[in-house]
Amino acid sequence: MEERATIFAPATAPGRAGVAVLRLSGPQAFAALAALCGRAAFPPRAMVSVRFSDPETGEAIDRGLAVCFPGPASFTGEDVAELHVHGSAAVLERLAGVLAGRPGVRWAEPGEFTRRAFEAGKMDLTETEALADLLAAETEAQRRQAVRQMDGALSRRFEDLRNRAVEVRAFIEAVIDFPEDELPAGTRDRGLTMIAGLKADLAELVDSARIGCRVRQGVTVAVLGAPNVGKSSLVNRLAGWDVAIVSATAGTTRDRVSVDLALEGLPVTVTDTAGLRAAAEEIEAEGIRRAERAVADADLRLAVFSAETWPAPEDPTWRWVDSGALVVVNKADLGGVAGGPPMKPPPIAVSALTGAGFDALADALRARVRALAGRQAGEAPPITRERHRALAAAALVALERAQAQTQQELQAEDVRLAIRELGRITGRIDVEDVLDRIFGEFCIGK
Ligand code: GDP
Repeated sequence: MEERATIFAPATAPGRAGVAVLRLSGPQAFAALAALCGRAAFPPRAMVSVRFSDPETGEAIDRGLAVCFPGPASFTGEDVAELHVHGSAAVLERLAGVLAGRPGVRWAEPGEFTRRAFEAGKMDLTETEALADLLAAETEAQRRQAVRQMDGALSRRFEDLRNRAVEVRAFIEAVIDFPEDELPAGTRDRGLTMIAGLKADLAELVDSARIGCRVRQGVTVAVLGAPNVGKSSLVNRLAGWDVAIVSATAGTTRDRVSVDLALEGLPVTVTDTAGLRAAAEEIEAEGIRRAERAVADADLRLAVFSAETWPAPEDPTWRWVDSGALVVVNKADLGGVAGGPPMKPPPIAVSALTGAGFDALADALRARVRALAGRQAGEAPPITRERHRALAAAALVALERAQAQTQQELQAEDVRLAIRELGRITGRIDVEDVLDRIFGEFCIGK
């Protein structure tokens, strides 16, 4: 049988840095390290100071540290070696050149180290996904959610549900062969009660996707309103940074301009939409289409009016004012904001020019973000990906079918299907088709 390839890649980000780590995993890892530093034996899991040189020419490449993690007690379960060298592109390139020239050693594919860890049973799928999320985390809430999931909190929730489903199935199978009149009264109902309980808990988990996915992907806020009410100015002021085009000519904000904020530990993307007025030219029509899409897809809408024309009953922006919207009256420096229909919360008067009212606006935004994704640490870990949600929802449908079955054999079969869907989430069974997608998300070296 052919030996499995030994893979290598920098584990640190590219670019100049004090230290870079080059990682090797596979049966040739230690031999490759030995060739580079002219030393055969390494104590396990201890840093050793070494000189790396080209085994062909003997030329010195760098001085650094090396550490060996003999399998299976390593990240991938295989022999793993780490080379800690100076973080320069030239050092890494030279080391990589030597390594790639060795038989059985090659560059790692994106996510290949983690894939090997999964295949060795070191982590399940939701844990590898959490690792990817942790590497990509930009805010505190994202980091917290990813760390909990990486520690297996979500896996345990799914495993618990799966184990219960297995019990339900075993119970149904056990009573299938008994004629009704030989069973104690209520035995069949007990199976149904078990299914109902399982279904309720699973439904709660599916519902948590709303929150978990929002923490992972962030909250989107669309800024909409008639031309010239000051949307771009408002976005600029919110971001404290000049990213949107501010212009006195109507309809010049042709494209969406977004700013990323961190509110309540969550990433919040505020998008300035193009004016929602009737299209005058082709390019403007496309801008409007995009604006409408951004508005419809957003988690929250900031409906902006101008104090000059407030409450502007004819303004089509009113169409979007619902429970998912905050009404903002800009240019408060130019007019009052009395009048207008009664609403809760009341309109927020601001001036993008002077900055007046922005504290209140920021507070209102924070409160909405908290309501949209506000889950305190300590509560059950939520679903964080559409992949989990879709499989959990499929399991739910199977359980619903099971409830409706009058024949026990068919009921047991539906529960089996639910078990299969749940198992796919953590990767316990039947996962080949989803592996490439999940591990493709990683960068090389992880
Ligand atoms: P948009 O078309 O809604 O994005 O509006 P802009 O942000 O481009 O602003 C339109 C015009 O209104 C510009 O000339 C801005 O300088 C002006 N403007 C924006 N906000 C205010 C404000 O709070 N007060 C005053 N007086 N003018 C503003």
